[in-house]
Amino acid sequence: MSADKKTGKMLNATNKLKNEMGRHFLAIEQAYRDGKPTAWATAGTPVEFLYTMDVQPMLPENSATISAALKKSQDFIELAETEGFSYDLCSYFKTNVGAVLSNADMSVGGTRKPTFMLSSDVICDTHVNWFQVQAERFNVPHFTIDVPHVVSNTTNRQREYFKKYIIEQLWELLDFIKEITGNEYNKEKAQEIAINSYEMGKIWQDVFELRKNIPCPVSTRDTFGGLFPLFTMTGLKSPIKLYKRMYSEAKQRVENGIGALEQEEYRLMFEGIPFWYNLRFFSNLERWNAIIVYEPYVYAFTKYTNPNITKEMVIKNPVESMAELVLSFWYIYDLKTRVKMFKETVKDWKIDGVILHDNLSCRPNACGMYDLKRKLMEEADIPSLVITSDMNDPRKMNETQVLNQIESFIEILRERKKR
Ligand code: SF4
Repeated sequence: MSADKKTGKMLNATNKLKNEMGRHFLAIEQAYRDGKPTAWATAGTPVEFLYTMDVQPMLPENSATISAALKKSQDFIELAETEGFSYDLCSYFKTNVGAVLSNADMSVGGTRKPTFMLSSDVICDTHVNWFQVQAERFNVPHFTIDVPHVVSNTTNRQREYFKKYIIEQLWELLDFIKEITGNEYNKEKAQEIAINSYEMGKIWQDVFELRKNIPCPVSTRDTFGGLFPLFTMTGLKSPIKLYKRMYSEAKQRVENGIGALEQEEYRLMFEGIPFWYNLRFFSNLERWNAIIVYEPYVYAFTKYTNPNITKEMVIKNPVESMAELVLSFWYIYDLKTRVKMFKETVKDWKIDGVILHDNLSCRPNACGMYDLKRKLMEEADIPSLVITSDMNDPRKMNETQVLNQIESFIEILRERKKR
């Protein structure tokens, strides 16, 4: 047995992620030194346009995950609660509030005062309220993009109207940035950034394609770990190189029949945000020879999930394609579409069971988990389990209880395999 088979696990390329994160934080430091404009941005906003307009983005959500990984999030959250923010509010938000109040360094999840803030309600209304609170605190301008949601009975005519509405706001955003920074929109630069963004999303999707293989060559160690550039560096070249290396290494594993897990028996899907303060939790699955082979949350952030958006479209009209992307963002699918996508994914990735994270912090992500579970089980006989926890607040994680639930779930899968 090769050393890789014994220890398999994380791809070597994923270790280079630290360099990418370092590059991102150095760019922020450099921007402050050079007096270059900076902006806070929420997930789901077109970070590409910030890079296009020569504004250095900073994503407080990603910084919050760093706080969690370093076991600092609870302190920040509790500090935010002493300021009056409720126990039930989003723990990313409270981590950020606490980090700002503590004047925390970027290395532990702090985020410096930006030139302006950019939010959107594409994923959640918390994003907008969060930045409203912080923009007032820092006394900086705040631009928000309102995104109507396409649901199962949205007509084509309504959808077209939504798209025009978003396009108009994106042009307004570019005007807003110009007014604040004096930087002009340059279509050639926008195209270059859009191509990079497209390529990064696609190569990440290719990595996911490889995970259809048995054994699966890539585990959550790489996917949860490798997410960072998808949020913060969309439009830059360097993360594409990293993802290409991950792809080549994973492909080699497939060609040699090597899985991320030494012995793979159960293939799982995990929906939701992981527990950033306890990523090692997922290693527990290995004791049952179970591996997560697909995470809709991670896949959604490849952005280019709508097959109608081609590279040519992105090059020809970066603003219009961005509006289309925002409108078809996988993360916000209605229940009917979500069930359809889950059924297809379970089939294509040969998944034995689905674990759904009922995230106490994140209403948009957790909403409908029990309906989703019921539909998957009733309509497609897909074993599904809902677990309750929180992505950034360790106080809301009962590890023993969740592990017991998963152990019972694996027992069900084992019995099904015997049929
Ligand atoms: S975790 Fe959920 S509620 Fe919090 S900012 Fe993200 S999407 Fe919004």
